[in-house]
Amino acid sequence: MTEYPRVVVDLSKIRENVKKLTKKCKEFQIDVVGITKVFSGNIEIAKVFVEGGVRYLGDSRVKNLKKYENLDVPKIMIRLPMRSQIKEIIKHVDISLNSEISTIVLLNEEAGKQYRVHRIILMLELGDLREGILPEDVERYMEQINSMKNIKLEGIGVNLTCYGGIIPSFDNLGQLEKISDLIEEKYNLKLNVISGGNSSSLDLLWKSNMPSKINNLRLGESLIFGRETAYGKDLEGCFYDSVKLEAEIIELKEKQSYPVGEIGFNAFGEKPTFIDRGKRKRAILAIGKQDVDQFSLKAMDEKLIILGASSDHLVLDVTDSKIEYKVGDIVEFKLDYGSLLQLTTSPYVKKVFNEN
Ligand SMILES: *Cc1c(COP(=O)(O)O)cnc(C)c1O
Repeated sequence: MTEYPRVVVDLSKIRENVKKLTKKCKEFQIDVVGITKVFSGNIEIAKVFVEGGVRYLGDSRVKNLKKYENLDVPKIMIRLPMRSQIKEIIKHVDISLNSEISTIVLLNEEAGKQYRVHRIILMLELGDLREGILPEDVERYMEQINSMKNIKLEGIGVNLTCYGGIIPSFDNLGQLEKISDLIEEKYNLKLNVISGGNSSSLDLLWKSNMPSKINNLRLGESLIFGRETAYGKDLEGCFYDSVKLEAEIIELKEKQSYPVGEIGFNAFGEKPTFIDRGKRKRAILAIGKQDVDQFSLKAMDEKLIILGASSDHLVLDVTDSKIEYKVGDIVEFKLDYGSLLQLTTSPYVKKVFNEN
């Protein structure tokens, strides 16, 4: 018996996307870190990323990176390390992104205890206001990092468009390039990695506006959805439909579209509003807010209207569809980054990986 709800992933489409994008990045002398966090550290996806040509694997959770032990590429921890996880990070991670000197001190000590050298990428704050040290603090950080025996500065990086929505530009990434020049000249060293952001940097790169020293991008969303994320443009030659959701109809009835009785608060403390469209044919699907935010789903049958959801039920208006739905039928949905992240994290959602 097939289990529902399920996320169906087409591995061959993702592999093709990875091949296309890593090849094109290579033309600009850029290595790709394949970011797997949206799949909760799934080994199938990680393998496909490596087969497609990523040079590194990156994830925000050590638990996920740990699963990739047998894959022969460096693993990068892309969320700043927690102090409570220093041991695991030194053990399972080759390179971590950092912005706190007190954490780097602990990484250095632990790396010493484990007879390892831990590589770090120092993150710079260039306007998006998530992680990163301020440019004026670079030298202060450098003096301290240089004195640490078990830490190697692998490079510097920036993250944009994640919190503040700041779009990568020749200016802000040019600043990163300047900082790399300063570090290399002043401390007489060579930085291996100048990491210029995530999927939101692809538009700038394709327009050949990327400062030339940037040699690394950390890509997640674009590899899965074939889309850059500064403007949401589809990337040429990629697949945009590598993932979909399938959910099952458990009730199908004609009902009033306006609830009957006094309207109070729903299960989530909201006072719902309704449009009275008279009697409509409605389907209830066995999936709910516990699995996914209904607003980030889009039915493939464009005539379906998503009316709402409670913890375990999704209510659709199917009246306008050409398809005669019945109880037990499967309804398919397109996903976006947010819905995929939630669904892959839900233990109630089956994940199926296909090769075509
Ligand atoms: C999530 C994340 C990425 C990947 O972002 P995409 O938009 O999925 O390409 C890169 N770097 C960091 C630090 C991240 O947290």
